[in-house]
This record gives sequence, C-alpha cells and structure tokens, in this order.
Amino acid sequence: MKTLKVNIVTPDGPVVDTNAELVSAKAQSGELGIMAGHVPMVAPLQIGAVRLVKSGNQSEVVAISGGFLEVRPDQVTILAQAAEKAENIDISRAKEAQTRAQRLLESKQDNVDFKRAELALRRAVNRINVHDGNL
Ligand code: ATP
Repeated sequence: MKTLKVNIVTPDGPVVDTNAELVSAKAQSGELGIMAGHVPMVAPLQIGAVRLVKSGNQSEVVAISGGFLEVRPDQVTILAQAAEKAENIDISRAKEAQTRAQRLLESKQDNVDFKRAELALRRAVNRINVHDGNL
C-alpha cells in the first residue's frame, strides 16, 4: 500500500518524522482518516490522539494538544502546540496536572480561569489515555 510522509512539529522541534499508510486524527469537525492521495486540506485539531498506522499493521500513537493538520497528496504535516509519543509521556506528571486542574475546577474561587483549567484537564486526560492505550 502507498504510504504518506508524516511530520509532527511543535514549537520545541520535530516529534515525528515517519511514513504511514493511514493517519487518523481528531479534527474540530470530527474524526479524520487520511491515506495517500487524499485531497489537500487544512483542519484545526482538537486535543486528542493521532494514530499512525504503518505497513505490517504496526501503529504509533501520539498525544496532540491542539494545532493544525495539513494534507498534501503524499504528505501530512501536523503543527501542534505540544505533542508526545505514547512512550515519552511522563505519566506521573500527567496525573499531577490532572489533579491540579480538577482541584481548580472544583474550587469556588472567583479568580480561577475555568476555561484554562478545563483545557489543562483535557491535555492531562489525553496524555493519560494515550499512555495507557485507552483510545
Ligand atoms: P504541565 O502542567 O504538566 O506542564 P501542560 O499541559 O500545561 O502540563 P504543556 O504546556 O501542554 O503542558 O506542555 C509543555 C511541554 O511539556 C511540552 O513540550 C509538552 O510536550 C511537555 N509535556 C507536558 N506534559 C507532559 C507529560 N506528561 N509527559 C511528557 N511531556 C509533557
């Protein structure tokens, strides 16, 4: 099967540079599945997992904290705010971030930025799910 070149880039540098037969990602408009020859497009991504299915049915999962996906016929580029391969996720850090965000959301203080805490919680839960393979 034809493969796509896949690059995932963050402000800290490249996280993934590989080839895949299928890229699935959570766009704001819903789940996308991209294979070679897909029509060119740009789509904003949600906080979620990106799965790269490689030849031999091996797959790699990456936690993405929002950004944009650009499709060209033989290439997918994801510009992400932050991205971590499943094996590079620090699970205790993610659990601490989850607890911190939950405490803020449950607190009744006026000075809490709830939108920001909610996004922090979603990033943390996404990292935990990607690390644990719960997708
Ligand atoms: P924290 O509160 O733990 O910093 P965060 O969601 O606010 O979490 P981000 O601002 O999204 O963190 O990311 C900052 C940097 O830290 C990025 O390079 C991101 O890839 C990395 N990072 C954040 N959490 C983890 C984690 N649990 N494991 C590995 N890298 C992480």
